[in-house]
Amino acid sequence: MNTILPSYVNGAWWTPDAAVAASATEVLDASTGELVTRVSTEGLDLASALEYARTTGQRSLGELTFHQRAVLLKQMALALTERKAELYELSSRTGATKQDSWVDIDGGIGVLFTYSSKGRRELPNSQVYVDGGVEQLSKDGSFLGRHIYTRLPGVAVQINAFNFPVWGSLEKFAPAFLAGVPTLVKPATPTGYLAEAFVRVLVESGLLPDGSLQLVSGSVPDLFEHLRLGDLVSFTGSASTAERLRANESVQTGGVRFTSETDSINASVLGPDAVAGTPEFDAYVKQLVAEMTSKAGQKCTAIRRAVVPAASVDGVIDAVRTRIAERMVLGDPRAEGVTMGPLASTGQRDEVLRQVRRLAAEGGEIVIGSTEAPTVRLADGTDGSSADGAFVEPVMLRFADASSPALHEVEAFGPVSSIVGYDSVDEAVRLVARGGGSLVTSVATHDPAVAVALASGIAAYNGRLLLLDRDDARTSTGHGSPLPNLVHGGPGRAGGGEELGGIRAVLHHMQRTAVQGSPEMLTALTGVWHAGSASTPYAEAGEPHPFRKSLAELRIGDQVVSGSRTVTLEDIETFAHFTGDTFYAHMDEASAAANPFFPGRVAHGYLLVSWAAGLFVDAAPGPVLANSGLENLRFVTPVSPGDSIRVELTAKQITPRETDEYGEVRWDAVLRNQDDELVASYDVLTLVAKEQAPAASAA
Ligand code: NAP
Repeated sequence: MNTILPSYVNGAWWTPDAAVAASATEVLDASTGELVTRVSTEGLDLASALEYARTTGQRSLGELTFHQRAVLLKQMALALTERKAELYELSSRTGATKQDSWVDIDGGIGVLFTYSSKGRRELPNSQVYVDGGVEQLSKDGSFLGRHIYTRLPGVAVQINAFNFPVWGSLEKFAPAFLAGVPTLVKPATPTGYLAEAFVRVLVESGLLPDGSLQLVSGSVPDLFEHLRLGDLVSFTGSASTAERLRANESVQTGGVRFTSETDSINASVLGPDAVAGTPEFDAYVKQLVAEMTSKAGQKCTAIRRAVVPAASVDGVIDAVRTRIAERMVLGDPRAEGVTMGPLASTGQRDEVLRQVRRLAAEGGEIVIGSTEAPTVRLADGTDGSSADGAFVEPVMLRFADASSPALHEVEAFGPVSSIVGYDSVDEAVRLVARGGGSLVTSVATHDPAVAVALASGIAAYNGRLLLLDRDDARTSTGHGSPLPNLVHGGPGRAGGGEELGGIRAVLHHMQRTAVQGSPEMLTALTGVWHAGSASTPYAEAGEPHPFRKSLAELRIGDQVVSGSRTVTLEDIETFAHFTGDTFYAHMDEASAAANPFFPGRVAHGYLLVSWAAGLFVDAAPGPVLANSGLENLRFVTPVSPGDSIRVELTAKQITPRETDEYGEVRWDAVLRNQDDELVASYDVLTLVAKEQAPAASAA
């Protein structure tokens, strides 16, 4: 590699002049100190890259629906999977073991898969996301309110930390891409070469719409001067950098959306019931060691504070020490048998050791490991010392004084945890809260009362809680693993951000707007039919029944207005005996009349819904393939023998599937009685072919 690391801007690879090489930042192999590459942005026109995103990137993403973008995400995931061996090889240069690389690379690819599938399941196949229900703002239904989300018109700048160059980038890129907002990613310098490699795979795949992803390899000190309303910055890194960046004028007064995921002093609490010998104690120790050693502890979610019952402190320390001695092999990740690699750079090593000394000076006693240069397994398989490698052995500090500020404030971003005892569950809650806001806290207990007491006390201080016990210890994804479907981010010191969190993270790249208007206008804007806007009863319009129309032919507002059907006591009894539902409201006049809701015996709601299907259906084979469900079913007015019902069924939302020959049609179903009173309302979901089958169209 050994040259200057390229950036990818304005639709092309860009490298600084060779003359810059001497002043460029050198990036070294974490284990050996060999030069990997140099990084510099000298001469890069950042302003034009940002403008390219706002123009070309916005335009090309704007031509796609949520589902089309989601399909591209899956194809990108497959393209990366095909070439992941290249990424693994580079990843080992950052100090990552195979397992660490799996979290970073396969974890990152997994985020793309997850967003692809969530995007297609949970977003409409259009460009506007409708949030919540209709608000009736006038009695006659002519004035409605609705909330919509539309994409931000600018660029999503993603500034990442060095620890997960692939996952950290993709977890932000996926939701931005799905929202339709172009990304400019700025990886951290020490591992930016791995981010460059995955961006290269994506560029070479030809899947990226123009301007949808740009990469800046190197520092961007003047970035915030070029940002404006409609742009957003998602930052991951240290709290101090976040604080500095948030202070920029473009964020403070210019309307640039800024979220940060920063360091966080996460805790893991051992419940009072989880004494030595219980499965929870074992799971707790196993997890603690995993969090200290995986990625050499360079994880924003790692456990920094082990909060355990005072009587269990010694037992936990002994068990952690034993497990580390038995299972941990520190060394060059390319050597056989190594389970923990070096930190990302010698700079990081020195910084971590400095923070360990600070913890020790402020009340922590080192009870496992040391700050001395460790013996490590070298690339050739021999054991020795490595002055040029960024190695630190796992360190645990014991704090006798639980109120020591350093315990709750100092982050040593490496294989370092502190342990502290507590006397009561209330005290454990207070200790967790002292972290000032965390990404995650885990609790090991098999006692639901303890779990509830702890969780209700600490949830507000955490973005995520993991409740660990014997039932989920084997299947748990672990304290340190953020998942794309769950919120990743936390309050206070953790940055207050929301990087992941399923569709929430997509919406973070969009603006929520309340729209007030007539049903007609809201139908036009959202693509979803609103009651009160134009509808086309098929018989009156001389059109085919809507069930005879393919997705290509069906229009929002196409409607069936049925004839009516009268309910008799005999119908009710037949249905009751046929189904076994002989509930008294249908069968016992006196008891039904005594019920506050019924005038006497009434028809089963399910009878009415079944009849409604009989009233609106067109029975012959055709483009409607299946009824896939009902949603939002409400029974409003009871129906007595002698009453009659009719149904109006209106095509409400049409969602073609990108990768199937069919799509979903959501129908608005409304049942009324002979006095025009509302009997029931619900949505009917059907799967409908995109085109007429050849035989049907020939007919
Ligand atoms: P850092 O020093 O704060 O740097 C983070 C990023 O900010 C880097 O890409 C850095 O670029 C960039 N940056 C610095 N100054 C900037 C400026 N003026 N304008 C634009 N970008 C700027 O953090 P780090 O050392 O890379 O990462 C370690 C920290 O990240 C730890 O504290 C860890 O807890 C935290 N972290 C948090 C999470 C989370 O999700 N909460 C995840 C991972 C890590 P350069 O490298 O080019 O300087």
